[in-house]
Amino acid sequence: MDFTLTPEQEEFRESVRAWLKANMPREWDRRVMAASDVPRPEAYEFLRTWQRKMYDAGFVGITWPKEVGGRGLTFMEEMILHQEMALAKAPPLLNILGVGMAGPTIVAYGTEEQKQRYPAKILSCEEVWCQGYSEPNAGSDLAALQTRAVKDGEHWVVNGQKVWTSLAHIADWMMLLARTDVGVPKHKGITYFLLDMHAPGVTVKPLRQITGDAEFNEVFFDNVRIHESQILGGVNNGWAVGLTTLMYERLALGFGLQVRLRIALDSLVALARRTTKNGTPASQDPVIRQKLAQLWIDTEVFKYTGARAITRLLKGELPGPEASTGKMMWVEGHQRLQELAMEIEGPYAQLTRGSAWAIADGLWQHTFLRSRANSIEGGTTEI
Ligand SMILES: Cc1cc2nc3c(=O)[nH]c(=O)nc-3n(C[C@H](O)[C@H](O)[C@H](O)COP(=O)(O)OP(=O)(O)OC[C@H]3O[C@@H](n4cnc5c(N)ncnc54)[C@H](O)[C@@H]3O)c2cc1C
Repeated sequence: MDFTLTPEQEEFRESVRAWLKANMPREWDRRVMAASDVPRPEAYEFLRTWQRKMYDAGFVGITWPKEVGGRGLTFMEEMILHQEMALAKAPPLLNILGVGMAGPTIVAYGTEEQKQRYPAKILSCEEVWCQGYSEPNAGSDLAALQTRAVKDGEHWVVNGQKVWTSLAHIADWMMLLARTDVGVPKHKGITYFLLDMHAPGVTVKPLRQITGDAEFNEVFFDNVRIHESQILGGVNNGWAVGLTTLMYERLALGFGLQVRLRIALDSLVALARRTTKNGTPASQDPVIRQKLAQLWIDTEVFKYTGARAITRLLKGELPGPEASTGKMMWVEGHQRLQELAMEIEGPYAQLTRGSAWAIADGLWQHTFLRSRANSIEGGTTEI
């Protein structure tokens, strides 16, 4: 990859840096997370405002076409933006599934009406999106999904259930995969719908996780009516459209998680510096130093793997295996990072939020527990 930036790209970097310097909210990390990849429920409103602010400044939807509210720039600018956000330890976006997945899929497959209706509100965070793929009996084997949509005039009537639906409890729209033909091989009878989460018959039941937060949900559909204009990419073409979303998911993971991993590592180094072990800072322990150094190397490798993925895109090629290997690098690196945080805290690692003696109010315990999900969400490591 050629890392030389054009004068315009240098200028773009300067504009991002200056804007972040002037607009970064103070003390955000304690309310959101200092060392994780997932916003905590108490931070939703804060992050909604933050995304709106970034959008108004032109820093959301960098690569999206101008006609749908984006900047029409290249993935190089997107990478620059993410690098600067990592350096500034900037908060993440709330509408991450909309910006990373729903929006690009609508831009790729949407009708003119759909492209006018949805993308701009995704970028500004006026409408939050969730992803309705997984079901109790369809996860890794996604094509086994059983939620049914049956045609009734101009509408489709949906019955069934989704599970593990992140952010469904605050979402306005869902990327829904439902079975529309039972008489064909399972991949061929699926349709991709844009579902209004406020429609009658949609019930959202939060599921509490090991962290104590309820970040994902069960979603039930009881005769939910969807107008045919809300089909994306054609009837029974949902497998191809759904895979496009997953391709963008891996790409978004590559971009976003590289930033989060770097922020988490910087926080971990700070933790090692201020935690004493046997009278000296943990950061001076040779074994811990070595583990930190290895994590730093891995974070850099992750960054350059992302750059390789971008090179492909800039050459007009489709995302290749780099995006998937990036996901695995994140999982392995982030889980190891969280384990090291527990090792650095030592006996204090047993103290969780609310305990007077807990380090950073149990923040690292929370992110350690949350990191178990990394090797499941977005497709398991085995798959
Ligand atoms: C925090 C979190 C957030 C999530 N958010 C969403 C969301 O927003 N929307 C959504 O639709 N889904 C979401 N998911 C669901 C996620 O995509 C699925 O959990 C995942 O795809 C695995 O499916 P499953 O849970 O049904 O496990 P299963 O597919 O039943 O797998 C169980 C185990 O068997 C292994 N396995 C399965 N098949 C094979 C095989 N062929 N070869 C080898 N090993 C195999 C798996 O690796 C795994 O270890 C989320 C999950 C988590 C944990």
